[in-house]
Formats: sequence, C-alpha cells, structure tokens
Amino acid sequence: MKSLEQIAAELQGYDPGALRADAVDAFLARLVEPLAQTESVGVFDALGRVLAADLISPISVPPHDNSAMDGFAFAGAQLQPGQALALRVVGTAYAGAAWQGPVGPGECVRIMTGAVMPAGLDTVVPVEFTRLEGDSMTLPAGCVQAGDNRRQLGEDLMAGQPALRAGTRLGPAALGLIASLGLASVTVRRRPRVAFFSTGDEILSLGEAPREGAVYDSNRYTLFGLLSRLGVEPVDFGAVKDDPTSLEAAFRRAAAEADVVITSGGVSVGEADHTKAIMRQLGDVAFWRIAMRPGRPMAVGRLLQEDGSALLFGLPGNPVAVMVTFLAFVRPALLRLMGAADPKPLPVPAISQESIRKKPGRTEFQRGIADRAADGSLRVRTTGSQGSGVLRSMAEANCMIVLPHEQADVQIGDRVELLLFDGLI
Ligand code: AMP
Ligand code: MG
Repeated sequence: MKSLEQIAAELQGYDPGALRADAVDAFLARLVEPLAQTESVGVFDALGRVLAADLISPISVPPHDNSAMDGFAFAGAQLQPGQALALRVVGTAYAGAAWQGPVGPGECVRIMTGAVMPAGLDTVVPVEFTRLEGDSMTLPAGCVQAGDNRRQLGEDLMAGQPALRAGTRLGPAALGLIASLGLASVTVRRRPRVAFFSTGDEILSLGEAPREGAVYDSNRYTLFGLLSRLGVEPVDFGAVKDDPTSLEAAFRRAAAEADVVITSGGVSVGEADHTKAIMRQLGDVAFWRIAMRPGRPMAVGRLLQEDGSALLFGLPGNPVAVMVTFLAFVRPALLRLMGAADPKPLPVPAISQESIRKKPGRTEFQRGIADRAADGSLRVRTTGSQGSGVLRSMAEANCMIVLPHEQADVQIGDRVELLLFDGLI
C-alpha cells in the first residue's frame, strides 16, 4: 500500500501548505478503493444501494410485439396512398388474452393497448380515427402508415443486455426496473460502516447542564443526518473528552469496528489538544490546510491497527465547516467506497442577486437561497452572515454557492454555480 506522502508526491502541484480544493479531489480518488464485499438483497432493501455488477436482463421488454393503442390491428401492406381502407373485424385481442385465430387479407382484429399483435399484423389504427358499421371497419386515407402504433419485442431492452450498469445507485425507478425484469433480488456492495465522534473539552452532550465556555455538540447530529441520507451505516461513538487515553481508546475501537472514522474538532493549526497527536500515532495521516472557506484544516488518512484499519477524516470543529468539508470531500470519498460510478454532484447555474466579495486563490462555499425569477430562470442570494459557525443560516439555505479557486468578486447578475441540497443532503 502506498503511503499518503507517496500518493501526494505523485499529484502535480501538491503543496501541503495550501492544498487546492480540486487537488484534494484527486488525492481522495487515489486514497479510496471501493469495498470488495457484495451481498444479495431483496428489491425493497435495494433502495440507495450500489449495484456490484452489470444487471443483465433475463427477458426482453416488451416480451412480444404489442399494441400501443386501443384500435384495430391489420397488415400495413394493404394501405394505398390517398385511399381509405375497409376491413372486416374477425376478432378481439385483449391485454393478457391474445387473438389466436387466422387473419386474412381484407381482415382486421380489434385490439387493446398492450395486447399481443396477432401473427402477421404490424399496424394499429387508433379507434378514434375509424368508423364501424356492423363488422366493417373503415379508416380514412392518410391517418396511419404501415408499422404505426406497434411496440416491438425488445424495444426497451433485449434479453442478455445490461439493464443497469455496475456502480449505479439504485433509486425508485431502478427498483421498478429490477422488478419489471422479474428479479426478486439484486447483488449490491456492502454498506460502509462509518463511525463518527466529536472531540473537545468544551463539548456538552445533550442532557448536560450548560456551563461557561461550553457548547452543545451539534456536529454528531449533523453528521448522523448526512451519513444516513447517503445510505451508509452510521455508528455513533459519542463525544470524546480531549485526553489521550479516551481519544486513543475511541480511535482504536472505531478503526476495529468501522470502515471509516469521522471526527470533528481538534485539527486546527495550533490546537493545544491531543487529537492530532493520537491520529499521527495510530496511522498514516496528512494534515491539510486546504485553500477553501469555510473548512480550512482537515486531517485525512488511514488508521492502521492490528485489529482493523479505517479511512480517517478529521473534520474541523466549526459546525458549518463540518457540513462543507463533508459535502466537498467526505461525501465523494464515501460514494467511491460504496462503489458508485459517478460520485460528483451536478452543479446548477444561477444568476447572483447580490455582489459577493471573493479573493482569488481559494474555493469558497457560501450558503445560498435559490429560487425562480419571474422569467423562470434560477437566481440565488446568500443567507447573509457567512461566519463559519452560523448553523442557523445553514438550516435556512437550500444550496451552496460554489465560488471556484480563481474566481474574484461576484457582481450582481453574474452567473454562479450551485450545489442544491435537495437530493444531496
Ligand atoms: P476546533 O476545530 O476544535 O478548533 O473547533 C472550532 C469551533 O467549533 C470551536 O468554537 C468549537 O467550540 C466548535 N465545535 C467543535 N466541535 C463542535 C461540536 N461537536 N459541536 C458544535 N461545535 C463544535
Ligand atoms: Mg478544539
């Protein structure tokens, strides 16, 4: 296994003093391999899971040629340009009850949507175009062409072809698709177990009385929400006091029990606490000052213990920085671990309704509120104060405005890119 320093050295422009946010992406891509273990789960349990191999369709969809309309099926070769066509109705084909009888020249079959096309017939005229007198059906000139309104066998999917690709995160439509192929179960990758805990002597757990200089632990709850939405298995390790014995015990147990360990707090430059020392002692960990705001300090690496190793993300303590570093780095890394093919969220362009001060040379994440302008276009404003601890503004926001590394000040009316929370967190 390569050391982090080796991986870092291979990445051009690596500067541990101020790592560009996009260099961190490349670093994580090298650090994280998908979990190898797979399991078979029922369709209901497959929601949010990642497909371990291409899903090969055992059947063709649709399984036979069938009608796309309620109407009359006939052989299209009988159509003459500019002429009406009169045909004798010899039977009816229902969805689920095919017409088995013969259909000769000059004849047709009344057919329902989804019914199997009778042998030799290739065209359906919708009932609303036709006139019926007794058993004689007439369709006017020019209302259909040969082959119209027929769905062909395998038109959506041929037996033996991949219906879904390995690495697909299974959503509601995928569950329906799997069931439509008659498959009761599907092979997915194991869910990563992700242990998380807060560090710091000033951190109060819920139920404790407030005291001077202390703050209630919010990061564990935010992280629990972020991890649950992502579909990993969160394991709460509580709030850990900033003493070497408690910290070492927590890190060792977490590394043994989980695939990933996420902590918050104690990684800032100049921190007096023990978190960084213990991380260094228990694994191969790089301490980064990332050129981004909020969320500058971050520890990334591996805890390497005899009874188990784990990926480590030591996030900053500030509640908003926790969310931003999670979305920017931890989430893509976890998706990669889950085996997801395309871990990058899709940015959405919007027009800024306000000017935003921004220095080139770092990536900035501003909490934003996006909505539609009168002309239907997407616009965005910030939530105001962007102090990195203002969790209230994070709760108000429905997106992050992502201002890239080189970007300077944003003017009113400029185009910016958003990460919409809907579907992301
Ligand atoms: P640190 O990164 O440890 O220097 O923490 C930065 C700031 O975040 C400090 O004001 C901490 O009190 C605060 N903080 C750290 N951990 C948490 C937590 N779990 N919940 C809420 N605030 C926290
Ligand atoms: Mg601290």
